[in-house]
Amino acid sequence: MFQAQVFTLYPEFFPGPLAKGLYGKALSNKLWNLNVVNIRDAATDKHKTVDDTPYGGGTGMLLKPDILAKSLDQRVKKDERIFYLSPKGKKFDQKFAKDLSKEKSISLICGHFEGVDERVLDTRNIEEISIGDYVLSGGETAALVVLDTILRLLPGVLGNKKSAIDETFENGLLEYPQYTKPQIWEEKPVPEVLLSGDHAKIKDWRLSQSEAITRDRRPDLWQKYKKN
Ligand code: SAH
Repeated sequence: MFQAQVFTLYPEFFPGPLAKGLYGKALSNKLWNLNVVNIRDAATDKHKTVDDTPYGGGTGMLLKPDILAKSLDQRVKKDERIFYLSPKGKKFDQKFAKDLSKEKSISLICGHFEGVDERVLDTRNIEEISIGDYVLSGGETAALVVLDTILRLLPGVLGNKKSAIDETFENGLLEYPQYTKPQIWEEKPVPEVLLSGDHAKIKDWRLSQSEAITRDRRPDLWQKYKKN
């Protein structure tokens, strides 16, 4: 069973959308599990303080290293990879998700305010992950993105195994366009080839569509694909 652990100041964010549909089913079937830890529980003063002002000045507050470390040290397993969701981190992508889906367990730290004291990242060997080049107010939505991407790769979670194979990014290309009933909708018919029953022809058509879309929309992916 894949075990995820999230450290947050807002435990009510979780499992949130991850308890719906196939993920909810997989959660009750014990294909994965989520442990949510409230960082504030590690605070010791009467106000349950978790943050303080940055040395050297500047706006905002930082998560205190002693509090965060205490919270982590009580819960993180030996040799478990710990990730801090951070705009400065390594860019998260499908390959990264695939690697993480092979771990037995991972811990994710959601920052808030201006971030966390750097020393806790160094001393606890924490890896930083960014979900994109923009700044969120907190790491919770980023943790949900990371977990969503990993969960659909776990064996048995998606009903149809093949659905994860053809997809965008799996072969270095964006996915081809797809159509369902009705066959003619608002006077627009679905592409003729898809009705032909000729599987080889359909495969060729889909590949050429994937290539055209990738070339057009993502020159970066297209260059990589052409090299392989
Ligand atoms: N001052 C920090 C930003 C803090 S944003 C800086 O300039 O780097 C507040 C919190 O949101 C961060 O601690 C982090 O956990 C989360 N966060 C913001 N943007 C993110 C992103 N692109 N990916 C992952 N987490 C992000």
